[in-house]
Amino acid sequence: MFLNTHFPKAQKYWYQGKFYDWSEGDLHPMMHALHYGTSVFEGIRAYGTPRGTAIFRLPEHIDRMLLSAAVARMKFPYGKDEIIEFIKLTVRENGLESCYIRPLLFFSYGNLGLVPKACPVELAISAWEWGAYLGEKAAGGVSVYIVPWRRVHHTQFNMAAKLGGVYVQSTICGLEARDEGFDEAVFLNFEGRIAEGPGQNIFIVKGGTLITNDRKESVLEGITRTSLLEIARDLGFKTAVGPITKEDLYGAEEAFFCGTAVEIIPIISVTDGSDPAAGKTRHAIGTDKPGPIAQRMIKAYHEAVTGGSPRYEKWLTYVKG
Ligand code: PMP
Repeated sequence: MFLNTHFPKAQKYWYQGKFYDWSEGDLHPMMHALHYGTSVFEGIRAYGTPRGTAIFRLPEHIDRMLLSAAVARMKFPYGKDEIIEFIKLTVRENGLESCYIRPLLFFSYGNLGLVPKACPVELAISAWEWGAYLGEKAAGGVSVYIVPWRRVHHTQFNMAAKLGGVYVQSTICGLEARDEGFDEAVFLNFEGRIAEGPGQNIFIVKGGTLITNDRKESVLEGITRTSLLEIARDLGFKTAVGPITKEDLYGAEEAFFCGTAVEIIPIISVTDGSDPAAGKTRHAIGTDKPGPIAQRMIKAYHEAVTGGSPRYEKWLTYVKG
Protein backbone atom coordinates (compact mmCIF):
# COMPACT_ATOMS: atom_id res chain seq x y z
CA MET A 1 0.00 0.00 0.00
CA PHE A 2 1.51 3.32 -1.10
CA LEU A 3 0.10 6.35 0.73
CA ASN A 4 0.06 9.72 -1.00
CA THR A 5 1.10 11.53 2.20
CA HIS A 6 3.99 13.26 0.43
CA PHE A 7 2.18 13.49 -2.90
CA PRO A 8 -0.85 15.67 -2.14
CA LYS A 9 -3.88 15.14 -4.40
CA ALA A 10 -2.19 12.34 -6.37
CA GLN A 11 -4.86 9.82 -7.29
CA LYS A 12 -3.60 7.86 -10.28
CA TYR A 13 -0.35 7.33 -12.12
CA TRP A 14 0.07 6.35 -15.73
CA TYR A 15 2.28 3.34 -16.45
CA GLN A 16 2.75 1.70 -19.81
CA GLY A 17 -0.57 2.82 -21.27
CA LYS A 18 -2.80 2.36 -18.22
CA PHE A 19 -3.81 4.29 -15.14
CA TYR A 20 -3.29 2.74 -11.73
CA ASP A 21 -4.57 3.85 -8.35
CA TRP A 22 -1.82 5.68 -6.51
CA SER A 23 -1.86 3.09 -3.73
CA GLU A 24 -1.26 0.20 -6.14
CA GLY A 25 2.12 -1.01 -7.32
CA ASP A 26 4.16 -4.15 -7.67
CA LEU A 27 7.35 -3.28 -9.48
CA HIS A 28 9.95 -6.03 -9.21
CA PRO A 29 13.16 -5.64 -7.11
CA MET A 30 15.25 -6.79 -10.07
CA MET A 31 14.26 -3.87 -12.25
CA HIS A 32 17.49 -2.51 -13.72
CA ALA A 33 16.94 1.16 -12.89
CA LEU A 34 16.52 0.45 -9.19
CA HIS A 35 20.09 -0.87 -9.02
CA TYR A 36 22.03 1.41 -11.34
CA GLY A 37 19.97 4.58 -11.76
CA THR A 38 19.39 3.74 -15.42
CA SER A 39 16.46 6.10 -15.81
CA VAL A 40 15.82 9.50 -17.28
CA PHE A 41 13.20 11.92 -16.07
CA GLU A 42 11.68 15.36 -16.32
CA GLY A 43 10.31 17.76 -13.76
CA ILE A 44 7.48 19.87 -15.16
CA ARG A 45 4.91 22.19 -13.58
CA ALA A 46 1.36 23.04 -14.51
CA TYR A 47 -0.43 26.12 -13.19
CA GLY A 48 -4.00 27.34 -12.93
CA THR A 49 -4.68 30.11 -15.46
CA PRO A 50 -7.84 32.04 -16.41
CA ARG A 51 -8.20 29.61 -19.35
CA GLY A 52 -7.75 26.43 -17.29
CA THR A 53 -4.71 24.44 -16.26
CA ALA A 54 -1.66 25.02 -18.45
CA ILE A 55 1.66 23.18 -18.50
CA PHE A 56 4.69 25.43 -18.67
CA ARG A 57 7.02 24.83 -21.63
CA LEU A 58 5.89 21.25 -22.10
CA PRO A 59 7.41 20.73 -25.60
CA GLU A 60 10.80 21.93 -24.34
CA HIS A 61 10.65 19.50 -21.41
CA ILE A 62 9.81 16.61 -23.71
CA ASP A 63 12.62 17.58 -26.10
CA ARG A 64 14.99 17.41 -23.15
CA MET A 65 13.60 14.06 -22.04
CA LEU A 66 14.13 12.66 -25.52
CA LEU A 67 17.67 14.00 -25.51
CA SER A 68 18.25 12.37 -22.11
CA ALA A 69 16.84 9.09 -23.44
CA ALA A 70 19.16 9.26 -26.47
CA VAL A 71 22.14 9.86 -24.15
CA ALA A 72 21.05 6.78 -22.15
CA ARG A 73 20.71 4.80 -25.43
CA MET A 74 17.13 3.95 -24.64
CA LYS A 75 14.85 2.60 -27.34
CA PHE A 76 11.09 2.84 -26.79
CA PRO A 77 7.99 3.18 -28.89
CA TYR A 78 6.72 6.63 -27.85
CA GLY A 79 7.19 9.86 -29.81
CA LYS A 80 7.05 13.45 -28.57
CA ASP A 81 3.38 14.06 -29.44
CA GLU A 82 2.29 10.86 -27.73
CA ILE A 83 4.19 11.64 -24.54
CA ILE A 84 2.64 15.12 -24.54
CA GLU A 85 -0.83 13.57 -24.79
CA PHE A 86 -0.11 11.05 -21.99
CA ILE A 87 1.01 13.91 -19.75
CA LYS A 88 -2.06 16.03 -20.42
CA LEU A 89 -4.20 12.97 -19.78
CA THR A 90 -2.47 12.31 -16.45
CA VAL A 91 -3.10 15.86 -15.22
CA ARG A 92 -6.76 15.63 -16.30
CA GLU A 93 -7.22 12.16 -14.78
CA ASN A 94 -6.03 13.49 -11.41
CA GLY A 95 -8.24 16.58 -11.65
CA LEU A 96 -5.30 18.78 -10.70
CA GLU A 97 -5.39 22.53 -11.17
CA SER A 98 -1.73 23.18 -10.48
CA CYS A 99 0.78 20.39 -10.09
CA TYR A 100 4.25 18.98 -10.56
CA ILE A 101 4.54 16.33 -13.27
CA ARG A 102 7.17 13.60 -13.30
CA PRO A 103 7.57 11.49 -16.44
CA LEU A 104 10.13 8.71 -15.96
CA LEU A 105 11.65 6.41 -18.56
CA PHE A 106 13.61 3.50 -17.17
CA PHE A 107 15.27 0.22 -17.99
CA SER A 108 12.88 -2.23 -16.44
CA TYR A 109 12.88 -5.95 -15.65
CA GLY A 110 15.08 -8.18 -17.81
CA ASN A 111 18.68 -8.92 -16.90
CA LEU A 112 20.84 -7.48 -14.13
CA GLY A 113 24.18 -7.13 -15.94
CA LEU A 114 25.32 -3.53 -16.21
CA VAL A 115 24.39 -3.55 -19.89
CA PRO A 116 20.59 -3.76 -19.94
CA LYS A 117 20.38 -5.91 -23.02
CA ALA A 118 17.19 -7.75 -22.06
CA CYS A 119 15.50 -4.85 -20.23
CA PRO A 120 12.60 -3.09 -21.91
CA VAL A 121 12.37 0.68 -21.50
CA GLU A 122 9.17 1.62 -19.70
CA LEU A 123 7.40 4.94 -19.17
CA ALA A 124 5.59 6.09 -16.05
CA ILE A 125 3.96 9.49 -15.48
CA SER A 126 2.91 10.85 -12.10
CA ALA A 127 1.42 14.18 -11.05
CA TRP A 128 0.62 15.73 -7.70
CA GLU A 129 0.32 19.07 -6.00
CA TRP A 130 3.85 19.98 -4.96
CA GLY A 131 3.98 23.28 -3.12
CA ALA A 132 7.12 25.18 -2.21
CA TYR A 133 10.07 22.86 -2.95
CA LEU A 134 12.27 24.29 -0.20
CA GLY A 135 9.34 24.96 2.16
CA GLU A 136 7.18 28.06 2.61
CA LYS A 137 9.87 29.85 4.65
CA ALA A 138 12.28 29.74 1.71
CA ALA A 139 10.45 32.62 0.03
CA GLY A 140 12.19 34.84 2.59
CA GLY A 141 15.59 33.66 1.34
CA VAL A 142 17.72 30.57 1.92
CA SER A 143 21.16 29.86 3.32
CA VAL A 144 23.33 27.70 1.08
CA TYR A 145 26.38 25.59 1.73
CA ILE A 146 29.14 25.05 -0.82
CA VAL A 147 29.78 21.33 -0.48
CA PRO A 148 33.29 19.83 -0.69
CA TRP A 149 32.32 17.68 -3.70
CA ARG A 150 32.76 19.14 -7.17
CA ARG A 151 29.92 18.89 -9.70
CA VAL A 152 30.29 16.13 -12.29
CA HIS A 153 32.28 17.82 -15.05
CA HIS A 154 30.89 18.34 -18.53
CA THR A 155 33.80 16.33 -19.93
CA GLN A 156 32.82 13.33 -17.77
CA PHE A 157 29.22 13.05 -18.83
CA ASN A 158 26.63 14.84 -20.91
CA MET A 159 25.26 17.13 -18.24
CA ALA A 160 22.47 18.37 -20.54
CA ALA A 161 20.73 15.04 -19.85
CA LYS A 162 18.69 14.32 -16.73
CA LEU A 163 19.90 10.83 -15.91
CA GLY A 164 18.66 9.22 -12.71
CA GLY A 165 22.07 7.92 -11.62
CA VAL A 166 23.73 11.32 -11.89
CA TYR A 167 21.26 12.63 -9.31
CA VAL A 168 22.86 10.49 -6.61
CA GLN A 169 25.35 13.34 -6.24
CA SER A 170 22.52 15.86 -5.87
CA THR A 171 20.70 13.74 -3.30
CA ILE A 172 23.70 13.05 -1.09
CA CYS A 173 25.06 16.59 -1.21
CA GLY A 174 21.56 17.94 -0.49
CA LEU A 175 21.55 15.78 2.64
CA GLU A 176 25.06 16.91 3.54
CA ALA A 177 24.09 20.61 3.36
CA ARG A 178 21.05 20.00 5.58
CA ASP A 179 23.11 17.97 8.06
CA GLU A 180 25.46 20.96 8.28
CA GLY A 181 22.45 23.16 9.12
CA PHE A 182 21.85 24.90 5.79
CA ASP A 183 18.81 25.03 3.53
CA GLU A 184 20.47 23.80 0.34
CA ALA A 185 23.75 22.79 -1.29
CA VAL A 186 25.73 24.57 -3.99
CA PHE A 187 28.34 22.83 -6.12
CA LEU A 188 31.60 24.22 -7.39
CA ASN A 189 32.83 22.85 -10.70
CA PHE A 190 36.30 21.34 -11.24
CA GLU A 191 37.59 24.80 -12.08
CA GLY A 192 36.58 25.96 -8.56
CA ARG A 193 33.86 28.30 -9.82
CA ILE A 194 30.16 28.24 -8.92
CA ALA A 195 28.26 25.55 -10.82
CA GLU A 196 24.67 25.05 -9.60
CA GLY A 197 22.44 23.71 -6.87
CA PRO A 198 21.48 20.02 -6.72
CA GLY A 199 18.42 20.73 -8.87
CA GLN A 200 18.61 24.47 -9.50
CA ASN A 201 20.51 27.00 -11.55
CA ILE A 202 21.92 30.15 -10.00
CA PHE A 203 21.65 33.80 -10.97
CA ILE A 204 23.56 36.62 -9.38
CA VAL A 205 23.03 40.36 -9.74
CA LYS A 206 26.11 42.51 -10.16
CA GLY A 207 25.98 46.21 -11.06
CA GLY A 208 22.28 45.65 -11.83
CA THR A 209 23.07 42.96 -14.45
CA LEU A 210 21.59 39.48 -14.09
CA ILE A 211 24.33 36.91 -14.59
CA THR A 212 24.10 33.16 -14.91
CA ASN A 213 26.52 30.51 -16.13
CA ASP A 214 26.18 27.90 -18.87
CA ARG A 215 27.05 24.33 -19.82
CA LYS A 216 30.76 25.14 -20.05
CA GLU A 217 30.59 25.55 -16.27
CA SER A 218 29.14 22.02 -15.82
CA VAL A 219 25.52 22.96 -15.24
CA LEU A 220 22.25 21.76 -16.67
CA GLU A 221 20.99 24.78 -18.62
CA GLY A 222 17.52 24.75 -17.13
CA ILE A 223 14.32 25.75 -18.86
CA THR A 224 13.52 28.20 -16.04
CA ARG A 225 16.95 29.79 -16.48
CA THR A 226 16.36 30.26 -20.22
CA SER A 227 12.89 31.68 -19.55
CA LEU A 228 14.24 34.10 -16.93
CA LEU A 229 16.95 35.36 -19.27
CA GLU A 230 14.21 36.27 -21.76
CA ILE A 231 11.88 37.75 -19.12
CA ALA A 232 14.73 39.81 -17.62
CA ARG A 233 15.62 41.30 -21.01
CA ASP A 234 11.95 42.04 -21.68
CA LEU A 235 11.82 43.89 -18.35
CA GLY A 236 14.77 45.99 -19.48
CA PHE A 237 17.44 44.39 -17.31
CA LYS A 238 20.90 43.72 -18.67
CA THR A 239 21.81 40.03 -18.70
CA ALA A 240 25.08 38.20 -19.13
CA VAL A 241 26.00 34.53 -19.44
CA GLY A 242 29.42 33.46 -18.21
CA PRO A 243 31.45 32.04 -15.35
CA ILE A 244 30.60 33.02 -11.77
CA THR A 245 33.41 32.85 -9.24
CA LYS A 246 32.94 32.33 -5.52
CA GLU A 247 33.94 35.98 -5.02
CA ASP A 248 31.30 37.08 -7.57
CA LEU A 249 28.70 35.25 -5.50
CA TYR A 250 29.91 36.59 -2.15
CA GLY A 251 29.99 40.15 -3.48
CA ALA A 252 26.71 39.93 -5.41
CA GLU A 253 23.99 42.49 -4.78
CA GLU A 254 21.51 39.61 -5.00
CA ALA A 255 21.48 35.94 -5.84
CA PHE A 256 18.75 33.40 -6.45
CA PHE A 257 18.11 29.82 -7.35
CA CYS A 258 15.81 28.96 -10.22
CA GLY A 259 14.30 25.74 -11.50
CA THR A 260 10.97 24.14 -12.24
CA ALA A 261 10.48 22.69 -8.77
CA VAL A 262 11.97 25.57 -6.77
CA GLU A 263 10.74 28.33 -9.14
CA ILE A 264 12.73 31.38 -7.90
CA ILE A 265 14.19 31.40 -4.39
CA PRO A 266 16.46 34.19 -3.13
CA ILE A 267 19.82 33.16 -1.63
CA ILE A 268 20.66 35.36 1.34
CA SER A 269 23.79 33.71 2.67
CA VAL A 270 26.54 31.44 1.41
CA THR A 271 28.83 29.37 3.61
CA ASP A 272 31.94 27.99 1.99
CA GLY A 273 32.55 24.40 3.03
CA SER A 274 34.45 23.50 -0.14
CA ASP A 275 37.78 23.01 1.64
CA PRO A 276 37.22 21.02 4.84
CA ALA A 277 40.76 21.86 6.02
CA ALA A 278 40.10 25.60 5.79
CA GLY A 279 36.99 25.70 8.02
CA LYS A 280 33.75 27.36 7.09
CA THR A 281 33.15 31.00 6.29
CA ARG A 282 29.74 32.64 5.99
CA HIS A 283 29.00 35.46 3.59
CA ALA A 284 25.76 37.45 3.64
CA ILE A 285 24.47 38.31 0.20
CA GLY A 286 23.25 41.84 -0.35
CA THR A 287 21.15 43.00 2.56
CA ASP A 288 20.47 39.48 3.90
CA LYS A 289 16.90 39.82 2.57
CA PRO A 290 15.34 39.02 -0.84
CA GLY A 291 16.46 41.82 -3.13
CA PRO A 292 14.30 44.01 -5.39
CA ILE A 293 15.41 42.38 -8.66
CA ALA A 294 14.68 38.87 -7.36
CA GLN A 295 11.27 40.08 -6.23
CA ARG A 296 10.62 41.66 -9.62
CA MET A 297 11.61 38.39 -11.37
CA ILE A 298 9.42 36.31 -9.03
CA LYS A 299 6.41 38.46 -9.89
CA ALA A 300 7.08 38.40 -13.64
CA TYR A 301 7.68 34.63 -13.65
CA HIS A 302 4.49 34.02 -11.71
CA GLU A 303 2.56 36.13 -14.21
CA ALA A 304 4.12 34.24 -17.12
CA VAL A 305 3.33 30.75 -15.78
CA THR A 306 -0.21 31.60 -14.67
CA GLY A 307 -1.28 33.08 -17.99
CA GLY A 308 -1.20 36.68 -16.77
CA SER A 309 1.10 37.89 -19.51
CA PRO A 310 0.09 37.63 -23.23
CA ARG A 311 3.74 37.84 -24.25
CA TYR A 312 4.48 34.44 -22.69
CA GLU A 313 1.28 32.69 -23.75
CA LYS A 314 3.57 30.89 -26.26
CA TRP A 315 4.99 28.90 -23.32
CA LEU A 316 1.68 27.45 -22.15
CA THR A 317 0.09 24.14 -23.19
CA TYR A 318 -3.50 23.89 -22.01
CA VAL A 319 -4.45 20.56 -20.55
CA LYS A 320 -7.97 20.62 -21.96
CA GLY A 321 -7.58 20.05 -25.70
N1 PMP B 1 20.15 22.00 -12.65
C1 PMP B 1 19.82 20.76 -12.28
C2 PMP B 1 20.90 19.83 -11.90
C3 PMP B 1 18.48 20.35 -12.27
O1 PMP B 1 18.15 19.12 -11.88
C4 PMP B 1 17.48 21.27 -12.61
C5 PMP B 1 16.03 20.84 -12.56
N2 PMP B 1 15.63 20.22 -13.75
C6 PMP B 1 17.85 22.55 -13.00
C7 PMP B 1 19.19 22.89 -13.01
C8 PMP B 1 16.82 23.54 -13.43
O2 PMP B 1 16.23 23.12 -14.64
P1 PMP B 1 14.76 23.51 -15.04
O3 PMP B 1 14.65 24.97 -14.94
O4 PMP B 1 14.65 23.03 -16.44
O5 PMP B 1 13.84 22.81 -14.12
